[in-house]
Amino acid sequence: MNTDTARKYHFEIGVYRPPSEGGSYSLLLRVTRNCPWNKCTFCGMYKEEKFAIRSVEEVKGDIDAVAAVRDDLRAISMAQGHGGGVTREAVLELIRNAPDLNFSHGIGMVLDWLHSGGKTAFLQDANSPVMKTENLVAILKHLRSTFPSLERVTSYARSKTIARKSPEELKAICEAGLDRLHVGLETGDPDLLKQIKKGSAPEDHITGGKKAMAAGFQLSEYWMPGLGGKSDWKAHAQGTARVLNAIDPHYIRSRPFFPHPGTPLFDDYQSKDKELLSPREQLVELRLMVEELEVTSKVCFDHAGNHWTGRDGRTLFSLSYEGYKFPEEKERVLGLIDEGIEVQEKSPTGPPAWLTR
Ligand code: SF4
Repeated sequence: MNTDTARKYHFEIGVYRPPSEGGSYSLLLRVTRNCPWNKCTFCGMYKEEKFAIRSVEEVKGDIDAVAAVRDDLRAISMAQGHGGGVTREAVLELIRNAPDLNFSHGIGMVLDWLHSGGKTAFLQDANSPVMKTENLVAILKHLRSTFPSLERVTSYARSKTIARKSPEELKAICEAGLDRLHVGLETGDPDLLKQIKKGSAPEDHITGGKKAMAAGFQLSEYWMPGLGGKSDWKAHAQGTARVLNAIDPHYIRSRPFFPHPGTPLFDDYQSKDKELLSPREQLVELRLMVEELEVTSKVCFDHAGNHWTGRDGRTLFSLSYEGYKFPEEKERVLGLIDEGIEVQEKSPTGPPAWLTR
């Protein structure tokens, strides 16, 4: 591939995205690098490099590079008599014409995205709204006009960042085409939020969440069953339900806590300053949180960390990204939790092997 072709197809890609964006083969578009906060004691992500905001020109260049892949692939496919579709033959020809694509980190993602209809995109990395509003709006407008097939664009966001933006700014971002925000609440317990150095108090989460909803975003809030260990499980469950009730987000997503090597919280558990909940205790905590939930959200267990099993040995909860609709399915979820507790009482298990490797 000559230098011009290499530049034409060059775009940057980050490491992380929510599972729901993998399921829909989202286009991953990196607008910032890493996390501007980077202090949460449970978090092992983004530790290698410093945070940076990418320029509008750079990101627009990435959008144009992905568009070049789409356009050239379509032209090859048309010439081959395949009607412009993403076929194996067209992909092979594209790579034959530009062999450096074999070493592109993101080309597989782009091909999957195009093949699945180019419907969803995710803005990387940890907190895109930290960008200046006008810059984020400019990027979103370029993204939407370049790829009219997009039906949904999402991003991670910190509550405190959303809380700091004015309602007008949030509305402008939403109207420019950012549909959904994925926010890490982790817990609603004020003491635990301080312990894990989340940098946001419960009221920041509530203010940020409500402002996001009022501006028109779909809101996914993530929480971590087991985060408080044996000492703080009750306050964790009750505080989390209180904050989620105040926000009533579209989605509540469960990401059970497990200490990651290399994080300060892992060291706390190694030194026995903290003690992990057993799978049964996690379910008791989950029951208390769910009992106290008064929301109209979809409650989701869309991650393999929700490892509990039911009587038939299968995963206790559906891993669906759309989860269980509350309040209609609240009793069903409570029934499943009771089933999981019964299974654990008959034959207690430890965490799954993949978690302890
Ligand atoms: S804000 Fe998110 S990405 Fe940043 S340190 Fe905390 S959990 Fe990790």
